[in-house]
Amino acid sequence: MRLKPTWCACLRRRTVLGAGALTALSAALSAALPVVAALAPHPARAQAGQPVADDIVITAEMEDRLSAWLTGFRREALAQGISAGTFSRAFRGITLDAKVLELNQKQPEFVRPVWAYLETALSDKRKADGTTALAQNRRLFDQLERAHGVEREVLTAIWGLETSYGAVMGDRRVIRSLTTLGFEGRRAQFGRSQLLAALTILQAGDVTPEAMTGSWAGAMGHTQFIPTTYLGYAIDFDGDGRRDVWRSHADALASAANYLAASGWTHGEPAIREVVLPQGFDYALADRTVRKPGGDWQALGVRPAGGGALPARERSLDAYLIVPAGYRGPAFLAYPNFRTILRYNNATSYAMAVSYLAAYFAGAPGIQGTWPVDERPLSLTEAKEMQTRLTAIGFDTGGVDGIIGPKSRRAIRGFQARLGQPQDGFATQRLLQKIREAS
Ligand code: CA
Repeated sequence: MRLKPTWCACLRRRTVLGAGALTALSAALSAALPVVAALAPHPARAQAGQPVADDIVITAEMEDRLSAWLTGFRREALAQGISAGTFSRAFRGITLDAKVLELNQKQPEFVRPVWAYLETALSDKRKADGTTALAQNRRLFDQLERAHGVEREVLTAIWGLETSYGAVMGDRRVIRSLTTLGFEGRRAQFGRSQLLAALTILQAGDVTPEAMTGSWAGAMGHTQFIPTTYLGYAIDFDGDGRRDVWRSHADALASAANYLAASGWTHGEPAIREVVLPQGFDYALADRTVRKPGGDWQALGVRPAGGGALPARERSLDAYLIVPAGYRGPAFLAYPNFRTILRYNNATSYAMAVSYLAAYFAGAPGIQGTWPVDERPLSLTEAKEMQTRLTAIGFDTGGVDGIIGPKSRRAIRGFQARLGQPQDGFATQRLLQKIREAS
């Protein structure tokens, strides 16, 4: 799991699965998982072992500051119960990682559209490898479903999206990465708290400092747990006495199941359903903050994409409406299990990818709607221009940071209302052009 915006954290819930659980699950998924998603930018996916960035050089001055920082951090760690021995073993030979400094600063100029992300997330290879993984681990998944009530297709989808089923787990020393993040920069608080958790893990003896490897952001093992998530939810499932999310995929998958269960996962419930919206629908309702029972959405004219009415159980589920590519693209109802997936990685595109990869494994249909592939997402520079111009003409975006968050969406909706367009709050090139003409 990762860190905040794109990263993860961890999850929870359960129900006992009996015989036929798979069938029930498949039915539930098929019924409700229309698909969606693309891989979210994920620090865990950053490649390890890349050449040092040429724009960042570790200077002697930085090394001096690191030394001072470590003195202060050691005091804090020892005060929190980390032994002097654990601390010195963990930090032996630790230096700053220039690549981590570079990745931590980076704010990509270009963002992939959700449909492109989903295409990668749901690649033929990921589907095929996942199908193989499901077949090879049938007994393990039987046990995990009984113990945690999380469907095997969902666990497999997370495993596939996080590390391609253990193929890409990241090979950077976690203590080094987190020291670098904690030392300075926009994730300093995160780095410091994760570093303390990592030391606690080392002190418990589950892993050696050398074997504690992960992504540049400190996500570890098959299912990319950050240290605090590991501390809260990692499990020894194979019974060897150690919680080994690196070498035991049974431990890692059980840990993920435990986290999902604890984060509210309800067995047998869908995560997402593709829907169609009626003519003249008020797109301002397509917002994470607007939650209603499925039945209320249905009363507003929202219908399953495949036709018919929402199944009875979905009419009582609390849902919000998402239009990941604006009104010209497909629409979805996101149910409580979708929000549980977001606890793992707080990106809608990621949760859509998990949902639809799981749907594929369960034999359920994919996304039926068509994406507005002629739209190109705004670049960072263009997003800032949009925010600047909207603010100048009276639609407050809460600052200019290039990130289209809730305030920017509200500002966009205000401008769309003025134009008499659907108020989906979705930033497009076309809309930017309209804003330029108006400012
Ligand atoms: Ca174990």
